[in-house]
Amino acid sequence: MSIKENLEFYNKKLPETTELVAVSKTKPNSFITEAYEAGQRIFGENKVQDLAAKQVVLPQDIKWHFIGHLQRNKVKFIAPFVNTIHAVDSFRLLNEINKQAKINERTINCLLQFHIAEEETKFGLDLKEATELLQNPEFSKLQNINIAGVMGMATFSTDMDLVRREFKKLKSYFDTLKSEFFAEQGSFKEISMGMSGDYEIAIEEGSTMIRIGTGIFGARGN
Ligand SMILES: *Cc1c(COP(=O)(O)O)cnc(C)c1O
Repeated sequence: MSIKENLEFYNKKLPETTELVAVSKTKPNSFITEAYEAGQRIFGENKVQDLAAKQVVLPQDIKWHFIGHLQRNKVKFIAPFVNTIHAVDSFRLLNEINKQAKINERTINCLLQFHIAEEETKFGLDLKEATELLQNPEFSKLQNINIAGVMGMATFSTDMDLVRREFKKLKSYFDTLKSEFFAEQGSFKEISMGMSGDYEIAIEEGSTMIRIGTGIFGARGN
């Protein structure tokens, strides 16, 4: 299967309200160009250096999504162009994104990353921490970020009931925050969940953005 055929496969399965983030991390620019020529415009990367290097040489209308853990001191390298940052898990990071977005006179979409998996190693907030972040008096002063929704990664497991429960949890966090903080704001609308191994369940549970790497570009070598 070619990259183009893989994209067609996913696009056929996606509900109209769900977007496909093509996760191109570790893959060469030629792969991205092939996907771009097939019509794909949203790409996800998880390393600041790689993303910055790719962005300068690839088409300027690509919407770059940063999907990895982001260190505050590296925000400035992607702030001039990044469309969405998926893994915001602290007020300090959000504050820095806002500062750098302001310097670049733009707005950056941010998703709050939740810890929904069993594994200890996965980053992310719980509902209490997210609530505290949004209640921080400083939060309302941030004019150059848009909290666009939530993101989460399920446990890497073949237990699909477990994965489904975790996605349901993320959806319930989204609903809670939506009604408590963003009831009037249509801009809080994204639930980024689902990868190559679990995207079908994610869609059933209300995902609005699936992040697919392997299924589009093939396995990554280590
Ligand atoms: C790598 C990665 C993906 C894509 O994973 P695949 O299993 O290759 O589809 C999705 N989300 C995040 C956060 C990732 O780091």
